[in-house]
Parts: sequence; structure tokens; C-alpha cells
Amino acid sequence: MKEWVQSNPKLALPVCFWGDEAPIKKAGPRQCRRLHWFSPFCTLGSDRSRVLCCISDTADFTHKAENLQQFESVAWSFNICQEENVWPKADHQGIPYEPRDHRYQKAGQKLNSEGKRPIYVGMCGDWNFFVDEFGLSPNYKHNNPDLAICAICMATMKEGPLCAWNAAEDADWASTTRENAEHVSFSPLAKIKGYHIFNFYEDMMHDDLLGIRPSIVGASLVICCQHGLFDGDVPVPLGGDWKDRLQTQLNVAYRDFCKWASSNGHRHSQPTFKVCGLKLRNLSSSPYMKSKAHNCAVLSQWCKARVETIKDVDSEMQVLFMVLDGMVDIWVLAQELKAKDTIFLDPTEKARLAAARRHALEGYMFLWRFAQHNKLARYGCRPKFHKLDHCLRRAIKTGLSYSCWWSFACEGAIGTTAKTCAVSHASTLGVRPTQRWLVSFMNNLGRSQDEI
Ligand SMILES: [Zn+2]
Repeated sequence: MKEWVQSNPKLALPVCFWGDEAPIKKAGPRQCRRLHWFSPFCTLGSDRSRVLCCISDTADFTHKAENLQQFESVAWSFNICQEENVWPKADHQGIPYEPRDHRYQKAGQKLNSEGKRPIYVGMCGDWNFFVDEFGLSPNYKHNNPDLAICAICMATMKEGPLCAWNAAEDADWASTTRENAEHVSFSPLAKIKGYHIFNFYEDMMHDDLLGIRPSIVGASLVICCQHGLFDGDVPVPLGGDWKDRLQTQLNVAYRDFCKWASSNGHRHSQPTFKVCGLKLRNLSSSPYMKSKAHNCAVLSQWCKARVETIKDVDSEMQVLFMVLDGMVDIWVLAQELKAKDTIFLDPTEKARLAAARRHALEGYMFLWRFAQHNKLARYGCRPKFHKLDHCLRRAIKTGLSYSCWWSFACEGAIGTTAKTCAVSHASTLGVRPTQRWLVSFMNNLGRSQDEI
């Protein structure tokens, strides 16, 4: 394949697969599991660069079996497109097409008349997708601190030289790698030619906006409340439940957030702040702001503006401000990079990202250790912190923009899929996209390639 790509660079379309689940409002709350392909290096953030491969309804007890068949078919189709570019004589189970089948007539013909081919670049998506589908390293749900939590390096949750939370530039884990041979996956998708343990890419939406940023936003919000920023005109009840007191402040905070967002031109769909939306068990547990991806980005910008007003109180507040400043810059830079017509960072952008990473992640680690020392769990930490670190370090090292993997940050694609599911008949939900996958794939191949 390598030789073919080298001699036909204009005919090769880099392709990533992206897997996730989305809620569908059909006969009650349910989840649909879906797989898309997209071209990571396409500089146009258009929906046309993404193609749905298959969907399955996870509430359906047959969905695991259905998924296996779908993924078998996807891997088989992809390998044909990638390696042969000709219509096959038999289906994915090796059964030859009947002469009356329209596909029989096409056998041997070119799939893409210009000879364009998709080239597998990697997998992207939610951590759950990586763990459930490919059996990557166990995630934070396991209780053994000696186990590695990362698929590509030797980082563990245990304090020590390989600690995954070590965000220092010279962290020991950063110079370790795992072997591809260690990784055995039974997923049919692992049959795609080019599949490799190093081709799993961090997804900014899940690791940043739905991963570590909600912890930073939640902690900042609670701290601002504790510093009396949102005491408002209504006196905060002194007695009673801490939840009631906090809720009174959160109501004021929400009004302040909406006012700030509209006067700064930030659109959002964030519903009112609720104590239960912060996932707090008690006042010393770690808050996590439940919000949609884009809302969380806006919230972090608002938190930065509010924490700035109290940053001179003590060193913890100064570091928290630095963390928010770094996180906001990671988001702002990603937006700027998406709007550019290149996928590479220039030296100024690289330096800016390196500073933002240091401020955000090293600062957050300081806060986490500080809270641990004081027996507070105020700053939540999870493996997504480590994944975000990998993502940013890779971009700084290679100069390839991290926004390449941020293809689904806009929630339009997810919404469209959820709507498709809601109007599809259950029995055809899983079958239709897979049946059409090969055809739509090659049709889109022509169009997407021209856009790059
Ligand atoms: Zn790692």
C-alpha cells in the first residue's frame, strides 16, 4: 500500500473511523451506536466529509450480533476499496453473487473510475468505543493502580515515575511506548489493513470538552460560589442544607453566565445550573459540570472571566486562573486552526500551544495534588486527562494540528444521526446504512477528494 500511496499521492484519500453512541428519543430514552468515516485532513469543516457506515440500537438485545455483522461488512468493503478498487465477485461471506443480482454484472469493474482509493489512517472516538470494541487498556473503572491505563504508553494511575497524571514536559511515560504485538483485538474492524495500536487518535470532544474541562468548570463554579461571587441580592440561607445554599448561589451564577454570554456574543444552550448537575456528593467531593460539548467551552471562558476577579486571593486561585487561561486558549486556538486552510501549525502556534498545555495541564496537576494534600477531592482526575496530554504533545511534536481529530466538535453530525434513527423503522435501522455503505463510500470519495 505504501508504494501505491507514494506513487499516487493525488489518488489517495486518508480516512479515519469514528465511533460513538448518541441518545435517540424513540420509544423512551435509548442509545444508538454508530460508526462514521471522515477525512481528518480535509480543511473544510463540511458535513460532506463524513459518511455514516452503520448504526445499531443498543437497547435491542441482538445489537451485539448485528454490530459484528456490520463491522465485518465495513472492514471487508474498506479493504476492497483500499486494496483493489474493483467491484467484488462475492459478498463479505464469500458467497458468489447470482447472475440475476445487479452486483454480478458489475463484478470486475472499477469502483472509482478515476482510480481514487481510501487509505486507512486510524480510529477516533470515545474512550468507551476504544475499550468496548477493541479491548484497549482497562479504563479508570478498574481498581488496580498497577495496571497501565494507556494503549500507547506505559502510564499507570499509581504515583511514581510512570504516573499518568504527571504533565511535566519530561514525564517518564512520555518516552515509553507499548508494542503493537501486545494488542490483540477480536473486533472485525481490526481486519482493516493498516490497523495498528498507534493509529488510535484522541478525540478532542470527548477528552477535552466532555472529559477534563467539565471538571475544571465545575470546580471553578463551586469555588466562585464559596468566595461569595454569586451571593446576589437574596441573602444565602445560613442554616439548612448546604445544597439549598449552593442552589441559591447557582441561580445567581446562571443569570450572570447568560448575561455575560450574550454581551460577549457567545451562543449556548446551557440549561440552568443545578446542584445535581455538578455531581456533588458533599461539598468536598469533586464537581463535574454536566453540559454539552460546546456549552462547556463557553462556560470555561466565563469561568476564566469570573476567577480573574478573585485570582489575587491566594496561590490556588492564581493557579486556577492560569489553568482556565490555558484551557480557553486550547479551545480558541483549535477554532482558529479549523478556520485555516492548512493542517499544520506554524512555529508561533506551536509555541502558543506548548504554553497553553503547560498552563492548563501542569497547573491542573498542581491543583489536584494540592487538594489531595488538603484531603479535598475538589479537582477530579480521570484517564482523559492523560489522553488530552497525548493529543497536545503529539501536535506540538509533529506540528500536525490537533483540530484534525476534532471533526465532530460541532454537534450537528450527532444530531443528524439521532434524528435519522428516530425516523427509521427499527428493523431497518442497522441494515440500511451498511447496505449502502460501499456505494455511498465511493460516491463520496470523488467529492471529498476534490475538497481537500
Ligand atoms: Zn499514554
